[in-house]
Amino acid sequence: IKLRDVYTTYDNEEVLNGVSLEIKDGEFVSIVGLSGAGKSTLLRLMTREILPNKGEIILDGVNLADLPSKAVPLLRRKIGTIYQDFKLLSNKTAFENVAFAMEVCGMDEEEIKNDVPKVLGIVGLAEKLNSFPHQMSGGEKQRLAIARALIHRPRIILADEPTGNLDYVNSYDVLKLLMKINELGTTVILATHNKNMVNSVGRRVITMEKGKM
Ligand code: ADP
Repeated sequence: IKLRDVYTTYDNEEVLNGVSLEIKDGEFVSIVGLSGAGKSTLLRLMTREILPNKGEIILDGVNLADLPSKAVPLLRRKIGTIYQDFKLLSNKTAFENVAFAMEVCGMDEEEIKNDVPKVLGIVGLAEKLNSFPHQMSGGEKQRLAIARALIHRPRIILADEPTGNLDYVNSYDVLKLLMKINELGTTVILATHNKNMVNSVGRRVITMEKGKM
């Protein structure tokens, strides 16, 4: 992932202020900064939810500004995203939450039956297949969200404040899981305001302040 001199504004207010950055395949990078520093904006540029006002974003050799909109879903399958508020479907079980992410991409029933229990096993939720989100702890919900993010075997995981709603023990579990996923070869980008989290990862750290690195 390469960003070259990226500027972003919301309502004429500059949010990213000339950001240049290179993240190599397989890295674990933490982006730390106070709330409002521009961390989420940086991640939204990588998934092409927004385009920069100036500068370039190259992902896997593709300049995102040149990507036709019909190619965006394919780009997003390379990227698994995890958020502070889990974004689970409350009326679906753990199994169904992950299965749904496969169904919308047209995967067949056999693949779903095969892959969903496997990925739920990886995140330690083998026993919770039939539980609904309201029957799960915060840590379990976030691990379910991670399972859903992993289902398309993404090259990159973007985790935006993934431990923001969790206590210390659950936060540490989620962090360990992200580190394990990284060891298996997936690039992980973790955005957080929590310096303790980042220190316990012990890998590359980028500090953001007011839209600058
Ligand atoms: P962080 O993730 O570090 O908390 P954000 O990237 O969410 O920072 O926000 C950076 C700045 O951009 C903040 O001042 C925020 O209020 C502003 N901002 C974020 N999203 C929007 C939006 N959709 N419209 C207007 N301003 C926004």
